[in-house]
Amino acid sequence: MGTKGRELLGDKVDHILELLNNALADEWLAYYQYWIGAKVVVGPMKGEVQAELIEHANDELRHADMLVERILQLGGTPIINPKEWYKQTNCGYEAPSDPNVWKILDQNIKGEQCAISVYSKLLKETMQTDPVTYQIVVEILRDEEEHEEDLEGIVEDLENLTK
Ligand code: FE
Ligand code: FE
Ligand code: MG
Repeated sequence: MGTKGRELLGDKVDHILELLNNALADEWLAYYQYWIGAKVVVGPMKGEVQAELIEHANDELRHADMLVERILQLGGTPIINPKEWYKQTNCGYEAPSDPNVWKILDQNIKGEQCAISVYSKLLKETMQTDPVTYQIVVEILRDEEEHEEDLEGIVEDLENLTK
């Protein structure tokens, strides 16, 4: 984004950049949580669960990419040190120390619910002032809602399977 685009946002730009970097930290942690979860998971329907976790990991990485592109457009600096992920995250990181499929699904559902709250808040923050960021956030939020629903669907299948 050039000078004019940034000027349009006025003093809101720093606040929006901070929120975008917080979301970026979330996405990287979510990416790794899914990715490593897919490696270690054990239990019924393992293959199906792994495929879904990997698909979501790839989506989270794509979200990170979208956020960084926007941060750069706004003249900001994306997080360049992974140490910052823990400091700047909203949703944190849940290590899959228990590889049980139920536990991993539960942790990731909580993560998605947190992501949905974060992006809903970002929508409200950008609605009046920053339509371009708003559009990006709408796109990400659509994926996060789908992620939550997919994981809840798998939990339902598991419940039926083990009844
Ligand atoms: Fe995401
Ligand atoms: Fe997600
Ligand atoms: Mg999915």
